[in-house]
Amino acid sequence: MADNTYDAIVVGSGISGGWAAMELTRMGLKTIMLERGRDIKHGVDYKTANTEKWEFPIVAAVHNK
Ligand SMILES: Cc1cc2nc3c(=O)[nH]c(=O)nc-3n(C[C@H](O)[C@H](O)[C@H](O)COP(=O)(O)OP(=O)(O)OC[C@H]3O[C@@H](n4cnc5c(N)ncnc54)[C@H](O)[C@@H]3O)c2cc1C
Repeated sequence: MADNTYDAIVVGSGISGGWAAMELTRMGLKTIMLERGRDIKHGVDYKTANTEKWEFPIVAAVHNK
């Protein structure tokens, strides 16, 4: 039989929920995280993770001030 009992439930896997889940698990609490959004794959779905910093549109916006 599945053990569906948890010490803590974190709703949302954004930075707030992610950090909360990390702290809770570090304290030894059995923690479950619920996320309503789609499954985002590391290395695949972060489209701009490896682009150069300060690409043209941002640099242009700064210089045009
Ligand atoms: C277009 C854009 C660009 C940004 N760029 C930057 C940037 O460059 N640098 C920066 O520091 N900040 C940036 N921010 C701000 C940053 O994204 C937010 O401040 C940060 O994500 C807030 O974190 P959070 O964990 O509070 O919320 P979120 O990141 O919004 O996480 C909330 C999570 O909860 C889930 N959720 C919501 N309701 C439910 C539910 N009922 N059940 C289950 N799951 C649920 C959502 O799907 C989501 O995954 C940007 C924001 C936007 C919109």
